[in-house]
Amino acid sequence: MRTLQFGDVTVDRLVETEGLGYDPAFFFPESTLEGFEQELDWLAPHFWDVEAKTYRRAIQSYVVRTPHHVVLVDSCVGHMKERPSTPGWHRLDSTWLDQLMALGVRPEQVDYVLCTHLHADHVGWNTRLVDGRWTPTFPNAKYVIHRDELRYWERQGDANEGPGSEDGCFADSVLPVIEAGQAVLVGNDFAIDDTFTLLPTPGHSPGHVCIDLRAGGGHAVLAGDALHHPIQVARPEWNSRFCVEPDRARATRRRFVEAHADTGALILAAHFATPTVGRIVGNGARCKFQV
Ligand SMILES: [Zn+2]
Repeated sequence: MRTLQFGDVTVDRLVETEGLGYDPAFFFPESTLEGFEQELDWLAPHFWDVEAKTYRRAIQSYVVRTPHHVVLVDSCVGHMKERPSTPGWHRLDSTWLDQLMALGVRPEQVDYVLCTHLHADHVGWNTRLVDGRWTPTFPNAKYVIHRDELRYWERQGDANEGPGSEDGCFADSVLPVIEAGQAVLVGNDFAIDDTFTLLPTPGHSPGHVCIDLRAGGGHAVLAGDALHHPIQVARPEWNSRFCVEPDRARATRRRFVEAHADTGALILAAHFATPTVGRIVGNGARCKFQV
């Protein structure tokens, strides 16, 4: 994905990791191989590896720059975080921060970090280790978190086992931001300005939000994990194994697909593999994702 331009607003992405996903039947428990293969004409090669018979995915953040603000949407797995349940995330040493700097953005220039939700692969770079303490990476940023999301993880703690588990991410990547006074708890009505508003999309997690971006006559949705993989445009009923509220996640996803099909809105999800950006278009009974 090259830089997207919406009038005087630009959107870039920071890719932490990219490659083949898990066994589809593990990650999308309701999925079938036939269901994926029925959509090959638009899924392959970007989002499905025909030989490996599995899906492709990325872990990425978005950097939005307006004349007034530098805004980060989600912060991936992070640097040197203890994530033993997920070998690919454990003590990860990625180029994520270098990519941000290469765009000409220093950590102190980031004004907002918008958290779509608080899973471990979305909050990691919220903090980094300084003198043995997990410290906010962006010293001048407000970290925006939906209050339903925070309440849930405060009560819930680490809920999952195995790959993709939280592994203490709330303690090392969320609490330090709250303790530093940099967290801003918001409801559905939060907006930074006319450019950024929230689109509540609960279900994957109880306070999951997408970010609606409108500028220069264009519309993009920074979709977080409302959609994990483009297949869910055709199969909104297939949850990921990490959808906390399964029925609500399905209903929200179906609504999301219906609301954005054939509208021209660009969808920027957290895990869609390169080339990442595209639109939802009608395709008979099942929509498709057009890059
Ligand atoms: Zn995720």
